This record gives sequence, structure tokens and C-alpha cells, in this order.
Amino acid sequence: MSRITPLVAGNWKMNGMREQAAEIGKLAESLEKDPVDGVDVMICPPATLVMPFAELMKDNRIEIGGQDCHPLVSGAHTGDISAEMLADSGATAIIVGHSERRADHGETDALISEKAQATWRAGLVAIICVGETNGQRSYGLTLDVVRRQLKNAVPDGATAQNTIIAYEPVWAIGTGLTPTVEDVKKVHDDIRSVLVERFGSENGGGMRLLYGGSVKASNAAELMSVENVDGALVGGASLKADDFLGIINSYKS
Ligand code: PEP
Repeated sequence: MSRITPLVAGNWKMNGMREQAAEIGKLAESLEKDPVDGVDVMICPPATLVMPFAELMKDNRIEIGGQDCHPLVSGAHTGDISAEMLADSGATAIIVGHSERRADHGETDALISEKAQATWRAGLVAIICVGETNGQRSYGLTLDVVRRQLKNAVPDGATAQNTIIAYEPVWAIGTGLTPTVEDVKKVHDDIRSVLVERFGSENGGGMRLLYGGSVKASNAAELMSVENVDGALVGGASLKADDFLGIINSYKS
């Protein structure tokens, strides 16, 4: 039995208006009525909803996270948002290095490492995303790509408390495709051994490793039961409380 408390985190991406507070309200209510023990739950809404959601959830066990941050605290960076601003709004974690940011904004591992350090500077947890594209996978490069991303995007100060790694094969995000459980195990085992070697057994061995990519209620139990999978980062299926609850419920004993 793993000593790591799993986390099911929802990434809402660029979806959600204030009225979607009803969904997170429904989620909180359901978890209150029918608690699922031993699993942490987080929603990462667009930046506009971080503060209202954090206020709504302040007496609740659902944490609120950001989806990205600028490496600096403040300054002339129009349209950007700092980790400190997200902390000030009530976020407890920030996703950095999501493949959509790597693809849409040309984010490099070096920049992602700076963003992770900014997240820590603000006292928050960095959820650092790694994962191979379909092309890289077809050339058998999955482990090489993930190892390179871990080496360059995860800064030296990573601990079990300040960092979560999300393995998200790019080809599985939003496609309905998922790797086999054997493939997920192979990659997660490899990530674990890389982290233990670099950060030691306490930190590398205690860091949460999330799987992300087309997780839904119907495949969550199977994926979440894989060794070294300590939860999920969920996109599409986190937008509706019922769908997301179906995933969280895979941790019901
Ligand atoms: C994601 O974008 O982090 C993700 C996992 O998306 P989906 O669950 O929709 O594949």
C-alpha cells in the first residue's frame, strides 16, 4: 500500500464562466455527503475563476490551482500573471509546462523550470507536466523524452512537498486514447527511479506522480491502480461534477 496520498486534479483549461461555480459547488456538496477518504481533490480553473472558487471552497477540502504563471513576481509583462498573484487569489498549486503551453507558446524546459521555481517562491506546489508526442512515441523515444524533460524542467530544489509530476502523453490528451496500463507502468516506474536517483528516497520516492490523458470514470480505476500512479490530471472530464466524481470515486475502498 502506497504511503503517498493520491491527488485527482482537474484542469479546466480555457473553459468556465462564473456560472460554473455551480459545478464546483455540486462537487463539494457530493464529497461532503459521500466522502472519498484518502484522496486529495483540486480544480485548476482559468485565472479569472481562481479567486471566486477559492473563496467558495475556503471551508472545503477542494483545493484550487492555477494553470500557468510568469517566472517573475511583477513587472511590465502585459497579460501575464505571477505565482504570487495566484497565491494571493487563494491558489495552492500551479500547473507548469502543460503540453498545450509548450505547443501554443513555445515554452521550453528551461522556462518551465523557472516557472516551477516561481511557484515555490510564492509558497505553492508546482505540478510539472512531462510527456511525449505521438511522433516521439512512434520512434520509441518516450523514456528519452520524459527523462530529458525531468532533467531540464524539474529544478534542483524539488521535494515531495513542493512538487508533483504529471505524466501526460501528448497524443492521449483530449483524444480519448490512453496508453495500456503496461505502458503507463513502464513510464511511471522509470520516472520514479529517475526521481529517487536525483532527489533521494524521501523526496524522489514521495513525490506524487499523476497520470493525465483522457482519464474518465470508465478507465480511472484501472489507470489509478497502476503502481507509481498517485492520481490523475484530468482535462475534459473535470468540467462536469458528475464526470469528475466518477474519477474520484475510483479511490473508494
Ligand atoms: C490535460 O489537458 O491535462 C488532460 C489530461 O486533458 P484530457 O483529460 O481532456 O485528456
